[in-house]
Amino acid sequence: MISRAVIRQVEPGNTANCAHCGAPIKFAARMQLRQVIANVYREGNWVRVEHYHAECYDQADQPYGPAAEKS
Ligand SMILES: [Zn+2]
Repeated sequence: MISRAVIRQVEPGNTANCAHCGAPIKFAARMQLRQVIANVYREGNWVRVEHYHAECYDQADQPYGPAAEKS
């Protein structure tokens, strides 16, 4: 298994903090906010999940590769 990232809508009640800027990733009514969720593997073992604001993931140079769209 290798690290990979998907991009998803931010849902109400989301409580994750962005791994890049540290700020909460908050749901906002009427805004189509998106977040990147990365499953991080090291030497084939799952380590953790990281969340990013979609724009922060790009600013961080997509550390886990391009985020895949997932509905
Ligand atoms: Zn951020």
